[in-house]
Amino acid sequence: MIIDSHVHIGVFGRYDMKPEYVIDSMERYGIDYSLLSPITGVEFGQEHTPLPDDWPYDQQTANIEAIAFARENDGKIGILPWCRPNAEGFTDEFARLIDESGRYIKGLKFHPYHSMLPVTAPQIEPYLSFAAEKGLPVEVHSSNDEFSQPRFVYEVAKAHPSINFIMVHMGLITDNNEAIELIGSLPNLYGDTTWVNPESGLKLMKKYGAHKLLFGTDNPIDGPDTYAHPFYKVYMGEFREWVSHDDYELLMHGNAERIFDI
Ligand SMILES: [Zn+2]
Repeated sequence: MIIDSHVHIGVFGRYDMKPEYVIDSMERYGIDYSLLSPITGVEFGQEHTPLPDDWPYDQQTANIEAIAFARENDGKIGILPWCRPNAEGFTDEFARLIDESGRYIKGLKFHPYHSMLPVTAPQIEPYLSFAAEKGLPVEVHSSNDEFSQPRFVYEVAKAHPSINFIMVHMGLITDNNEAIELIGSLPNLYGDTTWVNPESGLKLMKKYGAHKLLFGTDNPIDGPDTYAHPFYKVYMGEFREWVSHDDYELLMHGNAERIFDI
């Protein structure tokens, strides 16, 4: 059993993440369930360029499309709606969409770089109050840019102890050490393996416990064979020899089942 806790659909700029890539790669690589957010929820492009004038998506339409995909693939896909705190912000309409979509919704997703807002910004608070009320976990992209610092995820997790937070990438483009220490210091903060060197993943599990890390990949960001990346080959292969059977099962699905109520 494998759950991929960090997957996307959507075509945007250099990203071509067609829905069929998700389903096809899940079948070929033995992935049972994917937690997915639509990249069409971006608020700014690469290098923070504005979106094209004819950009057809907003917070509602991006997520409605993703939820429809989950309904079509019932039992295989859960949605983490991509939040747009800088554009629309938290709206009644957004809350209604989540309520109406019931079991297809598994959490919320923030991308501080593509929103140009740190997760500590006041615009995030209404989303977090809602997440706390509904018992939804929150995934946050983390990296070394000014908006996506791992310590911002730590701060917001510390301020909201009733919400589980996943620090996606454990600090992309870093040696992951700061992220590992931050994740280890709060009970409601977790890491994932998306573009994380397996040595770092192992370090987090050994130091702070196997319950702290979730398997995630950004599939299909590198195309239909994203799972063939050397990191993911290790996690899906020899990593099972690096840890106990029980710990490996937690990494590959047990933690996601517990945190996202799958
Ligand atoms: Zn991602």
